[in-house]
Amino acid sequence: MTAIAGLHHVTALCADPQANFDFYTGRMGQRLVKRTVNFDAPDVHHLYYGDRTGAPGTVMTFFPFPDAAPGRAGDGMARAVAYAASPAGFDAAMDRLARGAADFDGPAERFGRRVLALSDPDGLTVEIAETTDGPCDGLHSVTLQLADPAPTARLLIDVMGFVEHGAETGADGERLRLRAPGDARGGVVDLLRVPRPASGRPAIGRSGAGAIHHVAFRARDAAEQRGWRERLRAAGFDVTPVTDRRYFNAIYFREPGGVLFEIATDQPGFTIDEPVETLGQALKLPPVHAPQRARIERVLPPLDTKP
Ligand code: ZN
Repeated sequence: MTAIAGLHHVTALCADPQANFDFYTGRMGQRLVKRTVNFDAPDVHHLYYGDRTGAPGTVMTFFPFPDAAPGRAGDGMARAVAYAASPAGFDAAMDRLARGAADFDGPAERFGRRVLALSDPDGLTVEIAETTDGPCDGLHSVTLQLADPAPTARLLIDVMGFVEHGAETGADGERLRLRAPGDARGGVVDLLRVPRPASGRPAIGRSGAGAIHHVAFRARDAAEQRGWRERLRAAGFDVTPVTDRRYFNAIYFREPGGVLFEIATDQPGFTIDEPVETLGQALKLPPVHAPQRARIERVLPPLDTKP
């Protein structure tokens, strides 16, 4: 265990679960791999989208709060998530979006590759990043907006094993790209410093619909997760104990720039409580909340997941 094996999942807040479902399964071509509830607040859905099995490194998850106020990207928050695409896949995605009359920005060039950006129904920036030097499916990267990227870069490099890929200044600010070594899905983290507004006041992010709640990295197994927990604690980070999230085990800590990080295990995965063929079709509740199923089904907002 010398380096993080890429992203495991990215979790964000949204308002309407139906609009969220329609966007990620329709426009983005993802599969709903788990329909469950927020284990800490079971009156709220927790929706997981990914590839056919919900493999680590392909997963986006959402907590829908129908009355949520919009969030705002800013310092101390993850502000964008990108899916990877081969050059041909990137062309196909552009064609598909143009044919579907979808609004998107770009393509722009970033580190010599094309990237285009969409807004999901809640305004979250979802990018498609052309990829020639890593996996072309699943997640490509997250972008963290930071007032001072240096301490976060030290954590990612010195503790988590990332390496510096390069830096460039684009329309949105100064971007430092870090990569996990090897061929990991979601192996890229961009640290973005945006120009100060003329007022000089820092643009602090605000949580709400369309805001990313946390960024989860992979641990291949429990031993590797234990190792990360010890290494992070030795580096001075306040790391939670291991929490059972049913589909993986999780530890959480706040990185120096303010973004909540998680390290989640690959196992047991989304087929622990339903077969791969029917993933995401039924509302799944963990044993602790199962006795409340009737009440929970009554209070959850409607969501039609039929294709
Ligand atoms: Zn998570």
